This record gives sequence, structure tokens and C-alpha cells, in this order.
Amino acid sequence: MEILKCKEIVKAVDGKLLSGSLEAEFSNITTDSRVVKNGDFFIPLVGEKFDGHDYILSSFEKGAAGCLTHRDMSGVDGKIVIKVEDTLAALRKLAAYYRQKFDIPFVGITGSVGKTSTKDMVYSVLSQKYNVLRTQGNFNNEIGVPLTVFNLESYHEAAVVEMGMSGLGEISRLTSIVRPDIAIITNIGLSHIEKLGSRQNILRAKMEILEGLKDNGLVILNGDDNLLSGLKGLLKHRTVFYGMEDGLDYQAYNISSQGEMGTSFEITIGYKDYKVHVPAPGIHNMHNALAAIAVGVELNIPVEDIIKGIGEFLPGKMRLNIIDLNGIKIINDAYNASPQSMEVAINVLKDVANSNNRTIAILGDMLELGDISVKAHRDIGKYAAMKEVSYIFTVGKKSKDILEGAIEAGMEKDRVLHFEDNAEAGKFLIDFVKPGDVLVVKGSRGMKMEEIVNLLTTEL
Ligand code: ATP
Ligand code: MG
Repeated sequence: MEILKCKEIVKAVDGKLLSGSLEAEFSNITTDSRVVKNGDFFIPLVGEKFDGHDYILSSFEKGAAGCLTHRDMSGVDGKIVIKVEDTLAALRKLAAYYRQKFDIPFVGITGSVGKTSTKDMVYSVLSQKYNVLRTQGNFNNEIGVPLTVFNLESYHEAAVVEMGMSGLGEISRLTSIVRPDIAIITNIGLSHIEKLGSRQNILRAKMEILEGLKDNGLVILNGDDNLLSGLKGLLKHRTVFYGMEDGLDYQAYNISSQGEMGTSFEITIGYKDYKVHVPAPGIHNMHNALAAIAVGVELNIPVEDIIKGIGEFLPGKMRLNIIDLNGIKIINDAYNASPQSMEVAINVLKDVANSNNRTIAILGDMLELGDISVKAHRDIGKYAAMKEVSYIFTVGKKSKDILEGAIEAGMEKDRVLHFEDNAEAGKFLIDFVKPGDVLVVKGSRGMKMEEIVNLLTTEL
């Protein structure tokens, strides 16, 4: 972070200085009292279990030089203390202020699935020409986005920021911080439908990203998503679409999957045809690459460099990572699950395997699906049966419906089995799997399906 003066903070957060000098300077902001370093500015937040205000004094003992507070307190000798109405709102205001100091292109990314993968793909492309700041890991919420912004340094030439949400109004607040020059919406799925009620409402929530988009900014939308493609001609900002459908601005054709090696396709840009290779499995990564190509073109990166950037993409942890274990392949996609990404994982399982491999889907519950939960699980079962997965093993409570769906779609009963927990499933699999098998492991975050992957990697 570049230096922020106390007087800038007071003004940005509309606060009242209780103690300390307006001339004091800070070069690091933290919301976690456990990692406070000498000279830091500490912003206490109220969480579900803890209230950061309880740690203000201990943060000072660790060397913090200042803090915000929305509790009534008196100033502290030798420390900056700034009183605000609400520390979370102040964190947002301060990040918005800090962001405005940087006259560089900002790319904001939202969507139901594929945000992190697209963010990393855009990073790979932009890094060919610029020093790029990107969201670390999955820091995409109302705390993660401000902290991402505070990582901006004077040497950064572009920024790529992921924005997540679980309800209406959240993206609106995040985009007011980021003020993107380019806004990407990857797709409109079913994640968080429990809270939002319908896909139309999910679309509305994602569209909030446009509220912060600069007037001359660019909107990049997945043209293969039936809700997003319906926005053609309706937006006031410049808009481009990507996907496989005919007539899209960034249209992939002659697509060929090379299993775990990734996907190749061709694309025409400025009347010239190019060949692109995406070194990560699954057609969804091709979509993510197309969004990144659109960003690269908008920011004037030569197409050859864009393609090189795509070729250097590295997938994140637990996102369809392929582990080779003595002739057994495990596709670890335990990071999270939604109906859409479950289908993607089953596609990748089939892509990676050849016809004489047994394909084994180990699927956990998909959480937070509300009323559509039973149907969504049954549909995944049907989909897996239709794709002729050899075996489906499920873990949890809701995932029993996956098996029901699979059986209904004609899958033999001796090819499916249900387990209560990961340990039980893991124990069974250690005996069951043999060289040549290809497995995919996936479930919602709360299911901790990586426990199965860890067990298999230590025991096999
Ligand atoms: P989160 O909401 O947890 O931050 P995310 O939107 O960042 O998720 P990723 O982490 O990029 O999503 O991807 C999660 C999983 O979703 C991947 O492992 C893959 O299975 C699937 N996925 C990635 N990109 C897409 C896409 N464009 N379309 C559909 N599924 C995708
Ligand atoms: Mg993410």
C-alpha cells in the first residue's frame, strides 16, 4: 500500500479524530488483529463470533499505530483513534478513496461460477504487458475487495478484481469501490437461489456491477448464457459477447478437447484467424479464456501476446486439479459445487478418461439451493447417468437425490452407493479404486470433500 495520511483517512471515512496527529502516516491496513505489525492501521469489524473492537488494545500492544472504532471510547495516548458510525462502511469508503488515486484500468468480474478462474485468466493475459494487481485467492466479498484494493502500489498498471455476493445490494457496494473500466459477468447460474428466489433476481444482483462502471467502460458478457444474451442492445454501455454461438463478438469455433491437456479453438479477431490453446480441462475454461481475450483486445495487448498469456494460465487450488496416483487419476474439484459446476465436473471427468477407463463421480451435497434442492440433485444424477459415468458415489444428506435421479435415468443400482460421511466413503474407495480409474471429487464447501482426496492420496 502507498502511504495514507491520517487526515486523508479522517476525511474519506467521514470520521472524528479522538487522538493523535492528522499528519501521521500509514502504509498498511489490516482488519485482523492477529497479524498486526508495527505501524499498522487496524480496522475492527464485527463478525458472527467476534467483535474486532475487543482487540483494539491488543492491536496497539502489538504495535498498531492507529485504529477506527464505532464504539464509544476515548482517545489513546500516542495512537491515532478515529470514531466512525460503522467500521465496515468506513472500510468501504476508505478503499473507494484509495482506489481513486490510481489512474489505471480496473477489470471487475462477477457471475455465478468461474469468477476466480476468469480473474486468473485475465491476469495471465494482462501480465504479458502490464504489472497487474489481482484478487488473492477468493477475497471477493465486502472485506476481501477493500483489502485487495489496499494492495495497490504505484507500480501497478492494471487491476483485476473478483466480486462475489450472496444477496441483492452486495455487488452494488463492491462496484462503488472498484469503479471498473471493464465489467465481466461470467454467467447466471443457481448459486444462492435460496436467498434470491429466482434466476431473474440473480441476474439483477449481478447486473449491479454496471452501477460502478465508468461511462465509457466496456461490458463483457457470456453470450452462451440465455439470460445474459437477452441483454443484447439493452445496455447503455458498450457491450461485447463471447461464446460458441454464431455471431458473437468473440466466437470460438473448431473447438477440440484434448482431455486433461485442455482445449483448443480458433477465433477471428480483426479479420484474422488465430489458434488458441487453453491449458486447463473443460469447455468452461474456454469460456473463461474468451472473456480474457476480450479484455486483452480492449486494453490493446497484441493478439499474439494474449494467446501466449492464455497458454500460461495456471488453475487455482482444488479447482479441477488433476492428481496422478499410481495410474489412478483424481480430479480434485472439492472447492465448491453448484448445479452448473457439477455438470462441468462430470464433463471434465468424461473428457479426461478414455473409453476403457472406469469413470467414478464422488459427489457431495450442493448446499443453499432452497426449494429447488431436490430437483437440482436429481438432475445431476440424471446428467451423470446420461453421460454414462461408470459409478456414482454420494456423500451427505441431500446427495441421496443424485442417486435417485441416476436410477430413474436408467443407471443400474449396483453402480451407485451412498455414504454418510467422507471417512466412510474414503475407506470404501481405498479398496474399490484400481489403476486406470478416473475419479472426480466434488461437493459444496461445507462438505469438505478434500478430506476424501487427502485420504486417497495418503493411502493409495
Ligand atoms: P466462488 O463463488 O466460490 O468464488 P467462482 O465463481 O470464483 O466461485 P471458480 O472458483 O472460478 O468460480 O470455479 C469453481 C468451479 O466452477 C470450477 O472448478 C469449475 O468446476 C466451475 N467453473 C469454472 N468456470 C466456469 C464457467 N465459466 N462455467 C461453468 N462452470 C465453471
Ligand atoms: Mg471465486
